Amino acid sequence: MAYLNAHYLKLKAGYLFPEIARRVKAFAEAHPEAASRIIRCGIGDVTEPLPPACIEALHRAVDEMARRETFRGYGPEQGYEFLRSAIAQHDFRNRGLEVADDEVFVSDGSKCDCGNILDILGHQNTIAIPDPVYPVYVDTNVMAGHTGPADDSGAYAGLRYLPCTPDNYFVPEPPREPVDVVYLCSPNNPTGAVATRAQLQAWVDYALRHQSLILFDAAYEAYIADPALPHSIYEIPGARECAIEFRSFSKNGGFTGVRCAYTVVPKTLLAMDDHGQRRPLHPLWNRRMATKFNGVSYIVQRAAEALYTPEGQAQVRQLIDHYMGNARILREALQACGLTVYGGQNAPYLWVKTPPGWSSWQAFDAILEKINVVVTPGSGFGAQGEGYFRLSSFNSRANAEEAARRFATMKW
Ligand SMILES: *Cc1c(COP(=O)(O)O)cnc(C)c1O
Repeated sequence: MAYLNAHYLKLKAGYLFPEIARRVKAFAEAHPEAASRIIRCGIGDVTEPLPPACIEALHRAVDEMARRETFRGYGPEQGYEFLRSAIAQHDFRNRGLEVADDEVFVSDGSKCDCGNILDILGHQNTIAIPDPVYPVYVDTNVMAGHTGPADDSGAYAGLRYLPCTPDNYFVPEPPREPVDVVYLCSPNNPTGAVATRAQLQAWVDYALRHQSLILFDAAYEAYIADPALPHSIYEIPGARECAIEFRSFSKNGGFTGVRCAYTVVPKTLLAMDDHGQRRPLHPLWNRRMATKFNGVSYIVQRAAEALYTPEGQAQVRQLIDHYMGNARILREALQACGLTVYGGQNAPYLWVKTPPGWSSWQAFDAILEKINVVVTPGSGFGAQGEGYFRLSSFNSRANAEEAARRFATMKW
């Protein structure tokens, strides 16, 4: 008899985005005249086309694949040297941070990396997760059997939830007791909060003290405008001894549909084996990639490399400026209608407090019905998200401006 992985049965049904889709559909059917006016500000996907430097690199790489002399089959599982070295040089060494080319592992996405990393970690770890949170961190731990069942609020037994509230500027604080593994995401999805150097230093100090591992998701690093804010966990002294960093080309180069990301595993990072001996994680991740992955396609890695050329860098800057221009327009409109708005200054997401007495879903329904704009209810990201909604700046300028005009007319 074949048994299934019963941990999957503990997963709460994907509730948030299907429920949003259901309510939008019901509204559009009840109000056909308003259906074409609906503006989606809920999506976490980019809207603008790929930078021209990537398109040119893709065309060149396709032509190489068309000729016997330049055709490529399987590449290195860890990524081509040209891309690993461009990443390590531009994202780290040019900023004074020590990362070797072979500490960079190229992959098909940060979502996958965040889940796959559990392959090389033990099952006895206590795991801390921010609340609200990017749901992938939670669900992959449920699938791996690291939790008990969920309670009525959707919280899983065995996970240590770290509340993110206005009191801590939506950046979780190290708990009093030790945890073995902690997920941090900065700039944050969904709150748009960015950890300061001091906040990250507190986490690194905590991790070194307790021999914990920090899983640092920096997918939105390119959106940081304030020069005082850290882009990488490795800007913090000691991080090479306690942190893995995830980066993605999805939100800077617009690669959500192209698929390319990378993970940094320093060779100086150790974790405990079953005999109480500390050993490096780097060889385990290397082995995991070599066994379960066959690399990102050559043409996509050439496209990612093109993001680091001077033209590519300027084009990425334009994309970020576009989305952050939308963020400013939306932020000012929401503030003008009296709402308290967080984020949106070093991140593409705005985290908006609902008016007093309104739940996240009540705000969602009112905004949909009155001004035909779709937002994301904060409660879908965790218990602490109740009383907030998320607004995404991934949109055309025309849509952002129109949504802003409509918010100005909104009466709560
Ligand atoms: C979009 C996003 C990523 C990137 O995921 P990919 O699989 O690389 O597209 C990672 N983390 C967070 C929090 C995100 O929102």
